[in-house]
Amino acid sequence: MHDIAAQITRQRVFFWSGKTHKVTFRIDALQKLKRAIVANEQKICAALAEDLGKPELEAFVSEIALVTREIDFICRNLRRWAKPQRVRTSLLNAPARGSVRCEPLGVALIIGPWNYPFQLLISPLAGALAAGNCALLKPSELTVHTAAVVSRIIAETFVPEHVCVMQGGPELGQALLNEQFDIVFFTGSTRVGKLVMQAAARHLTPVILELGGKSPAIVDADADLDMAARRIVWGKFFNAGQTCVAPDYLLVHDKVKQALLDRMTARISECYGPDPQQSPDYARIINTAHFDRLAGYLADGTIVAGGGMDRDARYLAPTILDGVSWESSLMQEEIFGPILPVLGFNDHDDVLELTSRRPTPLALYYFSQDAEKQRRVMNAGAFGGGCVNDTVIHLTEHHLPFGGVGSSGQGRYHGRASFEAFSHCKSVLKRGTWLDLPLRYPPYAGKLNWLKALFRWL
Ligand code: NAD
Repeated sequence: MHDIAAQITRQRVFFWSGKTHKVTFRIDALQKLKRAIVANEQKICAALAEDLGKPELEAFVSEIALVTREIDFICRNLRRWAKPQRVRTSLLNAPARGSVRCEPLGVALIIGPWNYPFQLLISPLAGALAAGNCALLKPSELTVHTAAVVSRIIAETFVPEHVCVMQGGPELGQALLNEQFDIVFFTGSTRVGKLVMQAAARHLTPVILELGGKSPAIVDADADLDMAARRIVWGKFFNAGQTCVAPDYLLVHDKVKQALLDRMTARISECYGPDPQQSPDYARIINTAHFDRLAGYLADGTIVAGGGMDRDARYLAPTILDGVSWESSLMQEEIFGPILPVLGFNDHDDVLELTSRRPTPLALYYFSQDAEKQRRVMNAGAFGGGCVNDTVIHLTEHHLPFGGVGSSGQGRYHGRASFEAFSHCKSVLKRGTWLDLPLRYPPYAGKLNWLKALFRWL
């Protein structure tokens, strides 16, 4: 049994010692973390293969390289980000100098999901360390092999007062949330996200919620169909569709629907061969409960491609479903698996109408060659982030903050946004003492008109 309160106290005492505040300490911690990841690359990939049947290339790209590249990016920029940033000040406050100083929050709780069980713990950890915090990580209980590797790497790399891992399921998650942290960073479902926010509210702890949702891929009549087919099939079936920003459903212009479906079907064969179950490049469903949930969706439409399954092997073929209605169960919940429902539209304006009526997705992808249409779709409605003429890849760009909006989450991270997410950016106005206009001080008699004139002038 974990002694959670005692562990948090140890971390808080370590934080108060001031060690983690030093930028050199933070960079050193990040570099140690990177060295440990590189040294354990094979073990991390093996654990991901055990847990999810994750192909080695997918594991390397999406779980290891994404994180090590981000650590490099942070280390290159951290000294600059951590310096007090001078800001302009208004003449009304002269003489003054304004600055924003980003400071660590304290002890961070990071709760991870199972779909990218390494990256989605370690990438937030990099942000927490960069900002100078201590951190307690809770991996998903569904990816036991990866959780064990993460625990070992962290225990070998950090003193537990600085960073530690606690393994367990929802009960441990709840027990952790009963305690007071200085920030909670949660990645997972919208349902649990609400519980996390409720629990954090008791202590007024700030939360960052990275949740899910139904992210559309929209293909307009003038899109490059070969490119769209390649990029949608890749984004959807990477990690067998168990990606928070995977295209959840396809919305395609009626004029090009058949041509696109033909290309996507052909593309699936090119990527995974005639029998994707034999392909070394195709992952498995996390467990039988999720397998059964996904298999149940197949009745909601007509199978255009795939549909094959093997429950014992938790294998579900890359599947495209046509003839799906907006009202079907498949279209009410996040699919989070290798099933792509297809819906049509016949007027560009309908796209904006159809997508804006639904809960705010984590991502939106739009394929078209027309710059004006691209601009309209990207400006219309709320979604966490997205791509024009591609899928998923925006999350690999360290210069772009990543996060959801509304039901897909709140708060942003990656790159500089990670540093800021785990910091309190404190505003300080340093006043000069050689001038002190008497206008603001009582007694106010005769001063209001002067003040109004001053406000008009400045
Ligand atoms: P989940 O919400 O079931 O679990 C996530 C984590 O929360 C796990 O560690 C779990 O043990 C813990 N947990 C579960 N119940 C809890 C409770 N009552 N109290 C405290 N902790 C609890 O999510 P999941 O099934 O692991 O992941 C899938 C979901 O995550 C999908 O909705 C997906 O879209 C989303 N996701 C989002 C992102 C993103 O970056 N926005 C990334 C990956 C996954």
